[in-house]
Amino acid sequence: MPKLRLSSLYTLMAFVCIFAAGVYYTHLSIVADRKEQRLLMEEVVGVQAAAIERRLTRSLSSTYILAQEVRRSNGQFRDFDKFAEEVMQTLGGVSNLQLAPNGITEQIYPLAGNEKGIGHDLLYSDKRKKEAWQAIESKQLSLAGPFMLVQGRMGMVGRNPVFLEQKGEPYFWGFATALIYLDDLLAFTELDQLQQKGYAYELSRWHPDTGQVDIFARSTRELDEQQVTKAIRVPNGEWTIAMSRPASFTLPVVLGILFSALIATLVALLMHRILREPERLRQLVKQQTAQLELLAFNDDLTGLANRRFLTEQLDRAILNGRREGQCLALMYLDLDDFKRINDSSGHTDGDRLLMEIARRLQDSVRQTDLVGRLGGDEFAIVLVNVNNADNVRKIAEKILANIGRPVQLGQHEAVVGTSIGITLAPEDGTSSGELLRNADLAMYDSKRSGKNQLSFYNARMQEQALYSVRLEKALRQAIEQQQFFLLFQPIISLASGRAEKFEALLRWDQPEQGVQNPGSFIETAEQTGLIVPIGYWVLEAACRFIQQQMQTGKTTRPVAVNLSVCQLREANFATRVEALLTRLKVPPELLELEITESMLMENVDLAMALIGDLKRLGMRISIDDFGTGYSSLAQLRQLPVNALKIDRSFVMELETSPVDQQMVEAITAMVHKLDLKVVAEGIETEQQRRLLRNIGCDYGQGFLFARPLSPEQALHYQGYDDAGNEKVAAAS
Ligand code: C2E
Ligand code: MG
Ligand code: MG
Repeated sequence: MPKLRLSSLYTLMAFVCIFAAGVYYTHLSIVADRKEQRLLMEEVVGVQAAAIERRLTRSLSSTYILAQEVRRSNGQFRDFDKFAEEVMQTLGGVSNLQLAPNGITEQIYPLAGNEKGIGHDLLYSDKRKKEAWQAIESKQLSLAGPFMLVQGRMGMVGRNPVFLEQKGEPYFWGFATALIYLDDLLAFTELDQLQQKGYAYELSRWHPDTGQVDIFARSTRELDEQQVTKAIRVPNGEWTIAMSRPASFTLPVVLGILFSALIATLVALLMHRILREPERLRQLVKQQTAQLELLAFNDDLTGLANRRFLTEQLDRAILNGRREGQCLALMYLDLDDFKRINDSSGHTDGDRLLMEIARRLQDSVRQTDLVGRLGGDEFAIVLVNVNNADNVRKIAEKILANIGRPVQLGQHEAVVGTSIGITLAPEDGTSSGELLRNADLAMYDSKRSGKNQLSFYNARMQEQALYSVRLEKALRQAIEQQQFFLLFQPIISLASGRAEKFEALLRWDQPEQGVQNPGSFIETAEQTGLIVPIGYWVLEAACRFIQQQMQTGKTTRPVAVNLSVCQLREANFATRVEALLTRLKVPPELLELEITESMLMENVDLAMALIGDLKRLGMRISIDDFGTGYSSLAQLRQLPVNALKIDRSFVMELETSPVDQQMVEAITAMVHKLDLKVVAEGIETEQQRRLLRNIGCDYGQGFLFARPLSPEQALHYQGYDDAGNEKVAAAS
């Protein structure tokens, strides 16, 4: 801010300086203009004064010529008219010439119109006798006027006293007089033209009678203050010519000031801009930084805090909590089956759903709590200042209920659940990293426990996580070191007791712990994606077992292989299987693939497409663990599968549970209607076998007939002896 003010101050100073300089320059140029004007005026006035003076002198010289002629003729002037005419023509500017011997006018040329003048006594009766006597006394030409003549015009009279000599003594003979009209005199100057050009002038003289200034000629326009005067010397007196020319300096002054203001403003603006540039850039950088920070701290889609910001705030909240002795809770939320909605309804609806969830989460907590999106369908909430775990549980339950409400997505509604993991600080952890890890583990626990629920973090989860990490490492080793092998469990025709096919079941020969069943490692293999390479290994091993059977020359029984959902997602799965079959020369109908019902339901469209592909290649497909998922009859009808395996949980209590019996009966009837085969899993007792056979189940699998067998054992296995209810293993 002070910088801003400083730049404004500099700008103001620049404006004032430049403006002042501009005004000063205007002043100087006007002063110079005035001076020049004055000089010009003085020149003009000088020229005009000289012109008047010259003209007057020339006109008055006529009296000298007359006087000279009188003296030459010794007072006997003859042919005055002719002489006068010649003089007047030569000199110009003289109105008439007179001779007045002894002061009495005797001759006038031209006489016409001037007759009254004859006989006029200049020394005794003339108004201007004073000048006449003055002339005699000074023996010099005297000029009277200008005054209004009897002819009605302004004029001057020049009287030249003529002295003759008698006996060596001069005596006054009379006057040689010239009358000069003022306008004739002025006609020889440029005053008239100058007047037309806007000049004003005044001709004046000091009146000897009145003692006042007598203005005898002037322009129509008045003189102004800027006048220049010049004296005109005339016989026995002085005239004054004054001239001025109206010159307005207002416009140049105004223009000068305006121009100065304009330049000053422009320079000031430019300077302001230059001075402000760093400030402007700083502001711009600040703005951009704020924008970047906004982008850096907020999730684009939902506007919630992003992972980075949430983590920072979490650290801050942990510190605050420690200082104030308060507890906080971190919730980690992962939407259940969001991928299904995203895949089936499209990303636009998926985004809309996420935005709505974000809004609901925000509504479910206090203003002081922080909701963030960690990415995809994962959210986190930092609840500050929590009293006890029970309160946190209540909030989490409220969130579960809020999120569970249907979301309107255009034409249709969607329902999503969320799995929540909760961890508390300071008891579970004291850093954001630790808390996020804890909450994540707890969230996985919720998922494992059946989704759409909440779990509080406990130390066991940490152990489990550690175990998973170790397991993953060990699984990688197992792939490299080929620690896997397959067992084959026969699937028996319940009607004939003959082994119809085998199910390949994976085993892991763990160096330290011995042989492991899939239950202990398959989930981790799926979570880490390791199931994909393992799955291909299983397929190949199963095919090799088929080859082995084929090589014995006896009946070759099909082998069923369990698939995992990760394998279904493999883009080129069908092609790879096809290549494998071709490479090992295994007829596709000898390979059966088991897809669990829950896998199927996770992504019906994807599963349908893949099943279609596999079927076209000639492979058989069966639905595993049927009854545990939630598929509908309508969906089943669309699936081009061969068989359906009723989950062991229905078989287990078949003898004691009429409900399970009815369920199995219903499933069997329904599946038969679809022209599919039914397999019952996990038959352990004779009674179960009998019941199932009576119900009409086609095949059975279970410890009653055979446990999963090694390839060698399986090669020799023929079936189950119905009559004696005894296993007939190894009946080659
Ligand atoms: P599943 O496909 O339902 O396989 C049947 C499971 O039931 C096998 O367990 C088998 O040993 C067990 N079983 C069979 N008869 C009886 C019985 O009478 N009583 C009892 N209590 N159990 C019986 P296993 O081999 O432990 O396999 C468990 C699950 O692991 C399998 O269930 C299958 O989903 C999965 N699995 C096995 N091998 C593979 C594999 O190669 N790939 C994949 N993705 N999953 C596999
Ligand atoms: Mg199976
Ligand atoms: Mg099963």
